[in-house]
Amino acid sequence: MNKTSLPVFAEAGRVIAGGVNSPVRAWKSVGGDPAFVSRAAGSKIYDLDGKEYIDYVLSWGPMILGHAHPDVTAAVCEAARRGTSFGAPTVAETQMARLISEAIPSMERVRMTSSGTEAAMTAIRLARGCTGRNKILKFDGCYHGHADSLLIKAGSGVTTLGIPGSPGIPETVARLTLSLPYNDIGALEKAVALYADDLAAVIVEPVAGNMGVVLPEEGFLEALRDETARHGALLIFDEVITGFRFAFGGYQRLAHIQPDLTCLGKIIGGGLPVGAVGGKKDIMERLAPSGDVYQAGTLSGNPLAMNAGITTLSILMSKADAYAALEEEARLLCREMEKLFAGRGIAVCVNRAFSMFTLFFQEGPVRDLSSALRSDTDLYARFFHGMIQNGVWLAPSQFEAGFLSFAHTRQDTDRTLSAVEKTLDRL
Ligand SMILES: *Cc1c(COP(=O)(O)O)cnc(C)c1O
Repeated sequence: MNKTSLPVFAEAGRVIAGGVNSPVRAWKSVGGDPAFVSRAAGSKIYDLDGKEYIDYVLSWGPMILGHAHPDVTAAVCEAARRGTSFGAPTVAETQMARLISEAIPSMERVRMTSSGTEAAMTAIRLARGCTGRNKILKFDGCYHGHADSLLIKAGSGVTTLGIPGSPGIPETVARLTLSLPYNDIGALEKAVALYADDLAAVIVEPVAGNMGVVLPEEGFLEALRDETARHGALLIFDEVITGFRFAFGGYQRLAHIQPDLTCLGKIIGGGLPVGAVGGKKDIMERLAPSGDVYQAGTLSGNPLAMNAGITTLSILMSKADAYAALEEEARLLCREMEKLFAGRGIAVCVNRAFSMFTLFFQEGPVRDLSSALRSDTDLYARFFHGMIQNGVWLAPSQFEAGFLSFAHTRQDTDRTLSAVEKTLDRL
């Protein structure tokens, strides 16, 4: 679609495996060569030809303030001038941890990492270390980074233990991870009863974003809390996407549920590589050096990332009341898109949680991975390319979330809606 991008992607493929440093970027599921990005600002992202797009991917969630927010950029530059990494403690790390802990009180102690993957990996190790148990329960379609124990394909039914989601994950590791359908309380109760003795933790995206947006049904998260508490397993909320996305804090605050451990990432790094794991003091203090569960990182708590994160969180705190307006804009966008589809007799199911949404190309309802997979991915691919042509950057996969930022305006919404109209006219 973009002349400049063809040679650059081919060029990339000669030195980078698959031409990209993270798989979805390659546009495999929608076809075509990916547009390369030259820069981004606010709600807009620009390709190598300088073509502008309204961005609903936002680096897969982090850029809630919009791209290149001047205060965040200044904070990063200022930190860089003082040195980019020390391998020794800084007060910025304490500041960052305090901001997180005050916003999410269940995170009594925090440990910073460089990615969400590391945060989830650490949470699992801690859960196993603290409980002396081995098994992990997760949910089909939930993504918790690419660590071995968490990259497990959907297992069907209570008795099916994990099947590796990728070559390279030993079956002996996969067998320790159980994957159940999201929102299925019955399957959860059976699985917990069956494996309770050796169940270290249940890990969940409290609002799922990695099979497209899927909301927890009433009672699902409560059941997770009750079942884990009753059987001595830890409950881990993976709030890498949801943390600070819906409100100043975690989804746990809105759901009134306190997990034992929480994983963060994305937004808290303001666009720099960051993750964090935190939870009850007695669990977290099991981490080395105070405890015996090992975890480390040369760049953990990196000064650039801390400054970007502190600045982002401080701005979000001052905007705490603006989250409602952000949700309102997303509601309007989704409602009007739904109308345009309905007007042309195309079935879409819009799942939305606050400022995060997915248009599933099907009647719906979408409440778990198997229902999500009923979507018409070919139609989505055509829609995606039409939208790109009309200046709107959506996720290059049906099974991802779209995001709005505080930089998105009503004008962006209007332009997006007219791009939808034009796209549908030619679908
Ligand atoms: C993105 C994501 C991760 C992994 O974070 P990385 O920084 O990409 O390693 C983990 N959990 C969830 C819910 C995510 O969306």
